[in-house]
Amino acid sequence: PEPLLAIKDLRVWFPIRKGVLNRVAGHVRAVDGVSLAMAKGETLGLVGESGCGKTTLGRAILGLEHARSGSIRFAGQELNGMAEKEHRLLRRRCQMIFQDPYSSLNPRMTAMDLITEGLAYHGLLAGRSREEAAAELMHEVGLDRDGIFRYPHEFSGGQRQRLSIARALSLQPDFIVCDEPVSALDVSVQAQVINLLLDLRAKHQLSYLFISHDLSVVRLIAQRVAVMYLGHIIECGSCADILDAPLHPYTQALISAVPTPGKDRRQRTVLTGEMPSPAAPPPGCPFHPRCPQAMPICRTTMPAESSIGDHSVRCHLITDNKNTANTSTDGKA
Ligand code: SF4
Repeated sequence: PEPLLAIKDLRVWFPIRKGVLNRVAGHVRAVDGVSLAMAKGETLGLVGESGCGKTTLGRAILGLEHARSGSIRFAGQELNGMAEKEHRLLRRRCQMIFQDPYSSLNPRMTAMDLITEGLAYHGLLAGRSREEAAAELMHEVGLDRDGIFRYPHEFSGGQRQRLSIARALSLQPDFIVCDEPVSALDVSVQAQVINLLLDLRAKHQLSYLFISHDLSVVRLIAQRVAVMYLGHIIECGSCADILDAPLHPYTQALISAVPTPGKDRRQRTVLTGEMPSPAAPPPGCPFHPRCPQAMPICRTTMPAESSIGDHSVRCHLITDNKNTANTSTDGKA
């Protein structure tokens, strides 16, 4: 069956303007040739350091960032370049939950107004009052209906995130971009919110693009994981493939940096240096300036994608037969 979401060679570049004439002097290549697919009901964890392009990718899927090129197919329809009116209709089926529920919720709106804003806007209350619709949704996310006339500041952090989830759920989406949804919460509250997302996924067959820098949280919810570095997906596979048997030196470093009981600090691979600026990406493999295993070819040639079953990786250390002849120079500055 066709995947719910299929992204192909997506690029989202932001112009850098300079001088009094505001001329375009270059581009920040936030997303630089990303391809991935997601099935209905599936959760894909999207991990990487801050600034690697994770949030821009999530926003581009929802049409909140303009894609320079490439394709985003959702439920069989091409979103990139779609007319605004059609896009809005499809947008109902794709929602987003943000890291900080406080700044993403209008402080002057009551819980009821926040949760039912989309329903009222799209004329989808179906004969119910806003009060009834809000009470149902609050019940679904584990909030007490007595809170419907309260304002966001009267809820705890975890409750505010539940409000955001109720708001996202109101339009009965198929797909939700969860952008670091539990990073601002205490660990015990994190688990509760993850459990809620898991219950809702099972009940409504939801698909989540779960953006996080926290691999232990990703392990709790994702079935597959994609690792992003400097605008590229450098490795993608099942949770077990990526978190327990990573192939790419960057993923290996990310995972080895997670403190685990019994692991000697000296056994960790330490990532040195910083991720280069996406305004001036290095030629060849984007990770080569920091890679402990870099070879001469890494400085000139972008590694092609190699696949071992469902596990794909872009690294010259790992090549499969079909890619050994590849000489692509994508990513050259
Ligand atoms: Fe390191 Fe080369 Fe692999 Fe890039 S392609 S991760 S620089 S070994």
